Amino acid sequence: MNYLSTRGDATPRRFCDILLEGLAPDGGLYLPAHYPQIDAAELARLRAVHAGQGYAALAFEILSLYIDDIPAADLRRLCEKTYTPEVFGTPGIVPLKPLEPGLFLLGLSNGPTLAFKDMAMQLLGHLFEYELARRGTELNILGATSGDTGSAAEYAMRGKHGIRVFMLSPHGRMSPFQQAQMFSLQDANIHNLAIEGVFDDCQDIVKAVSGDLAFKARYRIGTVNSINWARLLAQVVYYFAGYFQATRRDDERVRFTVPSGNFGNICAGHVARQMGLPIERLVVATNENDVLDEFFRTGVYRVRAAADTLETSSPSMDISKASNFERFVFDLLGRDGAATRQLFAGQLPRQGFFDLGGDARFAQAAARYGFESGRSTHADRLATIRRVHAECGTTIDTHTADGVKVAREHRGGAGVPMIVLETALPIKFAETITEALGQPPERPARFDGIEDLPRRVTVLPADVQQVKAFIARQCDT
Ligand SMILES: *Cc1c(COP(=O)(O)O)cnc(C)c1O
Repeated sequence: MNYLSTRGDATPRRFCDILLEGLAPDGGLYLPAHYPQIDAAELARLRAVHAGQGYAALAFEILSLYIDDIPAADLRRLCEKTYTPEVFGTPGIVPLKPLEPGLFLLGLSNGPTLAFKDMAMQLLGHLFEYELARRGTELNILGATSGDTGSAAEYAMRGKHGIRVFMLSPHGRMSPFQQAQMFSLQDANIHNLAIEGVFDDCQDIVKAVSGDLAFKARYRIGTVNSINWARLLAQVVYYFAGYFQATRRDDERVRFTVPSGNFGNICAGHVARQMGLPIERLVVATNENDVLDEFFRTGVYRVRAAADTLETSSPSMDISKASNFERFVFDLLGRDGAATRQLFAGQLPRQGFFDLGGDARFAQAAARYGFESGRSTHADRLATIRRVHAECGTTIDTHTADGVKVAREHRGGAGVPMIVLETALPIKFAETITEALGQPPERPARFDGIEDLPRRVTVLPADVQQVKAFIARQCDT
C-alpha cells in the first residue's frame, strides 16, 4: 500500500516511511492511496477470526491490508503484544455494553490511562520501538498535553528502547488525577515538564522547538499527535469489533456516535465505512465547541480563535479546529489534492473559514458518507450522566455523555443498533460526576492512592531555550 498527501503530493511512500512522520512535506495529511474493499465473504471471515481468535488477531488482519513493509509474522506478534487482557483489562479488549434496547456503549477505555487513546497509542509504542530498532536509530518524542494524549503517550512509550518522551503540560492546570497519572511514572525515558503557563504556551514551545530544523535533526525530535496515520489505522479495528458484537449477520447495519474533538476517532469510522463495513450513519457529537457540528449542519467550516474556545466539562473535546478533518474533506472533494490545498492552505488561513454549503458535494456528506451531527452542553452532560445512572445503573464519563445525548437524537429504524464509543472512564473527570450524582465515581483499585506516590516532574518557565537545554542535557549525557 502506498500513501499520498491530502494536498496532492503523490510521491509513493509506504507505511513505515510515514510511521514516524507528522505532516506530509506539502503540509497535508497522509492517507492510503485507496481503501481496501471488504466484500461479504471477507466480512464473514473477519467475523470468524474475531470470534475464534480475538481482538489481536482481528487487528492483525485489518492492519495487514494497509501495511506491507513489516513481515506478517512480526506484525502479528506486535498486535499480540499490544492487545492483551493484562493491558486492556478484559479478554474481549473492547466489550460492548447494552444501555437500553438498541443502544450500546463500546468500552474503549480500559487501557492503562482509562481513555480510548490507549487503543492506538499502545500499538504505536510497539511499532515505534520495532521500526527504530530496525533502522538502528532513536527518537525523542516532544509533545504538549492538557491531559489524555500526554498520559496515553507516556504509558505507551515507557521503558521502550530508543525512545524518550518530553511531555509539556501547563503547571498546576491538569486535574489532580491526571497529574498523578503522569508524574508518578518513574521510567528513566519519560520526562514530565510542567511549564509555568497555559496549554497554548506549551504548544507554542513545541512548535518553536520543532521549527528549529537544526535542533530537530540533531536531537531526532518527533511527535505522536492525532494526525499520525498509524493511530488512525489502529482505531479502525474497533469499529469492526463493535459491529461484530452488535450484530449476528453480515447484512445488518449499525450506527455509531462518536464524541469528537480533532476528528481522529470518527475519521477511523469513515475509513471503516469506506472499506465496506455496513455502517448506516456516523454521528459526530461535539460539546459547546461545535466547529464540526456547524460544518455538518451548514457546510461552513469556521475555525475559532484560541480565545473563543470554551473550557468545558468535556475538556478533551475543547478544540478550535479539528486537525484530522482535512482527511474527510479530501475524500468529499473526490480526492482532489489541489482543491483541498486551496481550502486548507488558501481560504482557511486567509479568511478563517470555508463554505461548502452551496457545493453539491456537501450534500454527499450525509447521503453518500453517512455523516450526521449534534451538540451537547454542560447541562446536557449532567442530565445524561444522571439519566444513565438512574436507568442503567452505569456511570459514564462527561465525553461519553455528550455521545449518548446526541446518539439518542439520531437513532435509526428498529433493528439498527446505535453504538456510542466510550472515550474515557468517569474517574478521570470526577468533579463533574460529583456535580451530577452527588457522589464521586468509583475508582479502579489499581489507582488507589496514586496522588500520594513520589513524583518525577521538572517545573520550567515558559521559555523555549530552557526546554531545549533540558532536552539537550538528557540526550548528550
Ligand atoms: C481525545 C478525546 C476525544 C476526542 O477524540 P478525537 O479523536 O480528537 O475526535 C474525546 N474524548 C476523550 C475522552 C478524549 O480523550
